[in-house]
Amino acid sequence: MTRHIPRKRFGQNFLVDETVIADIMAAIAPQPGDMTVEIGPGLGALTRPLIAQLRHLHVIEIDRDIVSRLKQDFPAPCLTIHEGDALKFDFAELGGDLRVVGNLPYNISTPILFHLAQSAHCIRDIHVMLQREVVERMVAAPSSSDYGRLSVMLQYRFDLEKVLDVPATAFRPAPQVESAVVRLLPLRRATEETCDEDLLGKIVMSAFSQRRKTLRNTLKAYFHAGDFAALGLDSGMRAQDLSVKDFVRMTNYAALRNASC
Ligand code: SAM
Repeated sequence: MTRHIPRKRFGQNFLVDETVIADIMAAIAPQPGDMTVEIGPGLGALTRPLIAQLRHLHVIEIDRDIVSRLKQDFPAPCLTIHEGDALKFDFAELGGDLRVVGNLPYNISTPILFHLAQSAHCIRDIHVMLQREVVERMVAAPSSSDYGRLSVMLQYRFDLEKVLDVPATAFRPAPQVESAVVRLLPLRRATEETCDEDLLGKIVMSAFSQRRKTLRNTLKAYFHAGDFAALGLDSGMRAQDLSVKDFVRMTNYAALRNASC
């Protein structure tokens, strides 16, 4: 078969470092019966060791040429190939205890994470490789410079842990940026710790829209001085000073007040 020319538009940086591949496998620790789906199998760097340990693997791949290669390299029944866009894939369709893995195309990493968050209820865990800078933002704690909308929205849904730093030299072609593998474990929150996620998203987006401005400025469409007082929050704080719990409390307060208007 001819050599595959990596396609930039599909974020094709293929993993070639066997040590890194082994480290990722150790982090995932696949067990034979695990219902697992890999996003973007590419030339099979993770697919091959995954199949060696699993009875069956689902993969989602957008590149038609790569799909043809996969069909030759991994004959059914060990692999089910879903040809198409992972952003449109219904992960819930695969069942209720799904393991998601992938070396994600960096150009769609944030939308894929938000898409997976919508299916968190049917996911056991997620191990994905991303741009390191994105992983730092995902796991960031309040009051740090990396803490922002991505941290709050993902930490609302998941327990997050960076498990591995990966240098650019581990890929062909080498990307311009460093990478990292992150583990996401869906949180089963008690009802009082949940809120209307659409409203949470809007409040978080407004709060972080101008990081240097205070809450009284960025959130004036949602909260007045009396509201901040009722919530026990100083309106002179900035978004990065609020915990995920604070954002959830504010969202529930706003939803209740809107309902009683
Ligand atoms: N897993 C392989 C590896 O580690 O070497 C390939 C990783 S490469 C960074 C990303 C892969 O995702 C490519 O195979 C690319 O074609 C595929 N891809 C890109 N956009 C996609 C999308 N929207 N849905 C599904 N697969 C996609």
